[in-house]
Amino acid sequence: MSNAVLENIGVVLQKMEGEALKRNAPVFRAELATKSTPFKILVFTMLSARTKDETTLKVVERLFQYVRTPEQLAKLKTSKLETLLYGVGFYRVKAKNLIETSKTIAKLGKVPDTLESLLQLPGVGRKTANIVLARAFGKNTLGVDVHVHRISNRLGLVKTKKPEETEMALIKIVPKQYLGKLNKSFVAFGQTICLPKTPRCTECPANSICPKKGVKTIS
Ligand code: SF4
Repeated sequence: MSNAVLENIGVVLQKMEGEALKRNAPVFRAELATKSTPFKILVFTMLSARTKDETTLKVVERLFQYVRTPEQLAKLKTSKLETLLYGVGFYRVKAKNLIETSKTIAKLGKVPDTLESLLQLPGVGRKTANIVLARAFGKNTLGVDVHVHRISNRLGLVKTKKPEETEMALIKIVPKQYLGKLNKSFVAFGQTICLPKTPRCTECPANSICPKKGVKTIS
């Protein structure tokens, strides 16, 4: 497949991240809130499912003022944790999963660093596990969320309907050394420029080479 974005993927990712950084994308503020601690990165990623980035950030900051370790979180009453998580999607289910996951991590003494072991934790699916492996442990894994799915299709890198298909399609074409970086760059870019409804194509460093597949209106 010939695709100008793919041929220049290293530069494209770097430029996208640079533009998103200038605009203070929530993903960078999330990094500060989690201070690159594997446990906090895991908690943030679990909470972010089906929740707006800004909301997740606010809730995570509130939570980490109250508890900092898996041991502390494991001891919280479910009702207290539900109050702390109020605002994120499915907060009741997430509270239950977080307590169970924290108990396991407290027993293990660390956040697991393999896909198989992360997938054993309650509430941790493939997307969350891959994001944690990349962000917390620097592995070349790819977590595909709505931003990655949308942008990959608009750029013409893939032609897929579901994020799971996007993950498999991207793994086949993106050089391995960029896989771990791709999630953060696309998420940051999707939060600030390649917005879901009306992308800001005139501000995009890939404007001249992006086929803008499926884009109806731009700003
Ligand atoms: S040109 Fe527009 S659609 Fe393409 S990546 Fe940039 S912002 Fe998104």
